[in-house]
Amino acid sequence: MKPNFSFEDLLLVEPLRLALEETGYKIPTPIQQAAIPPLLEGRDLIGCAQTGTGKTAAFALPILNRLAANPRRLEARRPRVLILTPTRELAIQIFDSFKIYGKHIKLKYAVVFGGVGQAPQVKALSTGVDILVATPGRLLDLIEQRHLQLQGLEVFVLDEADRMLDMGFIQPIRKVIKMLPERRHNLFFSATMPPEIMQLASTMLVDPVRVEVTPVSSTVELIQQSLMNVDKDKKRDLLRHVLKDPAFKRVIVFTRTKHGANKVTEVLDKSGIRSEAIHGNKSQTARQKALENFRAGRTRVLIATDIAARGIDIDEITHVINFELPNVAETYVHRIGRTARAGASGMAISFCDEEERAYLRDIEKLIGKKIPLNADQPFHIAYNGPVRPAPPEQRGGGGRRGNGGGRPQGGGQRRSFGGSGRPQGGGSRSDGPRPQGRSEAPRPSAGPRVGGPIANGPANGTRPTGRPTGNR
Ligand code: AMP
Repeated sequence: MKPNFSFEDLLLVEPLRLALEETGYKIPTPIQQAAIPPLLEGRDLIGCAQTGTGKTAAFALPILNRLAANPRRLEARRPRVLILTPTRELAIQIFDSFKIYGKHIKLKYAVVFGGVGQAPQVKALSTGVDILVATPGRLLDLIEQRHLQLQGLEVFVLDEADRMLDMGFIQPIRKVIKMLPERRHNLFFSATMPPEIMQLASTMLVDPVRVEVTPVSSTVELIQQSLMNVDKDKKRDLLRHVLKDPAFKRVIVFTRTKHGANKVTEVLDKSGIRSEAIHGNKSQTARQKALENFRAGRTRVLIATDIAARGIDIDEITHVINFELPNVAETYVHRIGRTARAGASGMAISFCDEEERAYLRDIEKLIGKKIPLNADQPFHIAYNGPVRPAPPEQRGGGGRRGNGGGRPQGGGQRRSFGGSGRPQGGGSRSDGPRPQGRSEAPRPSAGPRVGGPIANGPANGTRPTGRPTGNR
């Protein structure tokens, strides 16, 4: 297949071509370019890619093509395809994508996940489904209760394997793999490839094609990043302050903990700013509702923890605010990638208190540059390394501020297959105080995949917030 082929060049079945035409997709994304041809040939695949790259269509299209070209009679409780994914939100998104791409193909789909009653899921399975999207816990529950059998499976997709590992799902997954028929088509996706994940892949895949994309860098290039130094107990004031700017139309605020997310919502509510929180303690219904309100523009600010936000696919997020910096540098890149989707530009502002300086250093090493100081520093305090905002007359200039210092070393390497699984540019973690507290953030699992340069946006900030102003 020639490079940069179009969907037309792929010999997909007519109903799929029609659905793609209707979605307006013309050129496959890099992961689709790399994955679809070998998948159509029936090769196993290991893909290093994350949500936001077009990964869902990369596996959904060949699967739909296969099922449409080889019809089989529906069998109660025996799906032909199983897609395992770590979170309910991702499961729903994948399910929705299958329905869109497969709208002209006569197939049945179901999605099962925990936290909701199982009766409708059992009913759907009992009438037979071709394609099942599931989270691991509920899947195993249903299998144990004999509502589901995997013996008839033709295709198995393991999605976000590294996140599965972070969330403690590896044992359930091993259990599922043991139940699968020997002959099957396997697809394995993970954003990072630490050794445990490579090991799991090796038990599952037969002579796989390896595909790697570096989505984060390409997305992140469009994001204007900036830093606001702030005293820990002034963060809420700072958040209220930045949200006064009407340019902050659709904002995700990240906190490290569920408790922190709730607190921020309360504070914003008191200030008359409509916000909702999503995190692991919220019911499925509450999370869905919050996402819908946010998507529809009824809620201006969504407060999220990292796990809850994983896979959120909402376009036109104008700003990502790191109310607390993540303790895993790579999470920073995932977070800011929530904005600047679908080719739009976006802004990411990080609030950094003294205790988070070590996290900031890790992040800057990972992305290979300093995050520029925001022009607006209303709650700035000087740390041991003085980082002072420029006097007002200099603010538009983008010149060096304070201890602008040298560029961080390292960072920016691509994580590739077969590596050690440790961050290579991430630096030591013993160089500063660490905030305490229960965190929902995943543990570090692999090295950086940030390939290219990360643009910091224009250095001539004149707006009160959101505009970076050159180096520190
Ligand atoms: P995913 O990584 O599957 O979550 O996809 C990210 C976004 O890209 C989704 O909003 C898809 O609808 C969109 N998308 C997927 N493939 C294409 C394509 N070939 N052209 C344009 N948009 C796409």
